[in-house]
Amino acid sequence: MNILFYSDDSQDQLFHVSPRQRRVALALTIVMALFTIGTLFFAQVELPHFAILFPVLSAWGVMGSGLTAFILFNQFRASRILPILLLACTFLFTGLLSLFYLLALINLLPASGPFSPGSQTAVWLWCFWHAAFPIGLMVFYWSMHAKTAVIPLKRLPMCLSIATGTVILAVVTLVLFACSDRFLPVLIENNDYGRVISSGIGPAILGLNAAACLLSVFPYKERSVLRLWLSVASFSFTLGIVLSLTAGQRYTLGWYGSRVDSLIASSVMVLAIISEVNKLFVRLSRQHEELEESQKALEEANEQLKELAGVDSLTRIANRRKFDEVLKQELNAPQRDKEHLSLLMIDIDFFKAYNDNYGHLGGDMVLRSVAPKLENEALAHFGFTARYGGEEFAIILPGHSEHEARQIAELMIECVRSLSIPHDYSGVSKQITISVGGCTLYPGEKSSANELIGRADEALYQAKAEGRNRYVFARSGRPRRPGS
Ligand code: GH3
Ligand code: MG
Ligand code: MG
Repeated sequence: MNILFYSDDSQDQLFHVSPRQRRVALALTIVMALFTIGTLFFAQVELPHFAILFPVLSAWGVMGSGLTAFILFNQFRASRILPILLLACTFLFTGLLSLFYLLALINLLPASGPFSPGSQTAVWLWCFWHAAFPIGLMVFYWSMHAKTAVIPLKRLPMCLSIATGTVILAVVTLVLFACSDRFLPVLIENNDYGRVISSGIGPAILGLNAAACLLSVFPYKERSVLRLWLSVASFSFTLGIVLSLTAGQRYTLGWYGSRVDSLIASSVMVLAIISEVNKLFVRLSRQHEELEESQKALEEANEQLKELAGVDSLTRIANRRKFDEVLKQELNAPQRDKEHLSLLMIDIDFFKAYNDNYGHLGGDMVLRSVAPKLENEALAHFGFTARYGGEEFAIILPGHSEHEARQIAELMIECVRSLSIPHDYSGVSKQITISVGGCTLYPGEKSSANELIGRADEALYQAKAEGRNRYVFARSGRPRRPGS
């Protein structure tokens, strides 16, 4: 996705400029125009030679172009849209040329060899760079208007290498050309560059820039963020050339003014891109928050679904809802007249003490270990196990007499003991234990679910009262005790 051209919804939809951005761009354009017009009248007024100001401002310009090129190359890697590569190359090209221009002016090019500058090197580099920028822009606008090609992913490295290689080669050729004074006419003498105009090169450069500027503000159907700020950069670049040519000499008001315009030209793109990246970052953070919220909602919905599906979310065995359903079915089953029906209510001993000392998560782990153990044991006897609530479980044993149910209760106590979960705070053992309350309905004996549960619960209460880690059975509302 390209943040400067395209919205995140669709590759075809443009990333539109906000009204606020348009107002800021317009205000900046008006201020620059007024500033340039005001300066034009006194363009040739000589000012003190702030020699240090020049390299500082030029270095800023180099950095601005370099950063813009760097970001645009990355944008191209993400979007693989060819026009962005062209624009990135334009900024790399102008950035490199302006770098050599700066090096020539502050005498940092080698004193001998093919890269040693002559008296005209800097001014020619200035000309190349100021002509290259509008040409690059115009090619970019044209390519945007033509059918936008997206490079296949596997061709991306090759494309990048060819593009950057070509730019570097072109820059080196032009620098070598500018360093060989012999081939190029003299444009500057003693800080006076009047010949830039009289030779026609200056007006030609100005014409190119004015054309690029006009093309950029031409009312295309597309108004992207990039197009808007390119227009501002191009306009301010053109104003800088007007001032520079009018001044005719270095260190005049017009010349200093042109530096300001160039400064704005090289900064707006970087600032616009950074601002877009920031916006994208803010949007990404918001979307991340929304995603987290919807994930939470999804988890809750999942829990509700499981609850509806009859599964306990912690232990993964049947829940209370399912238990009620199964017990009702068993109580009303046709074989009730011929078969016994037993119910075991199971409660973990001293579980509160376990939670208090080993933590709630530790307690959860115990529930997760005990539940499947009980379920497996019950399944071996065709019984149905559910988490009745908290640390209580219920087992329905259809077709099992009281005698059989007692044996199964004993097996349940044994199987939990066999887990050997340490519990140093239990009053009955050094390990996790359970107490069981049982109840059996004889064939044909009528009882409601609540009544049956109540009787098993009463027996469980008695098992607790008698010391825990045992079972007690109730019958006909009368608890009897042959515990373990
Ligand atoms: P007793 O031997 O009389 O049964 O003592 P107890 O401490 O086990 O009895 P009580 O019913 O007072 O405590 C039950 C504890 O079970 C209290 C509660 O914190 C804990 N509990 C209930 N549900 C959960 C659960 O889902 N996870 C955890 N970790 N603890 C639970
Ligand atoms: Mg309890
Ligand atoms: Mg308990």
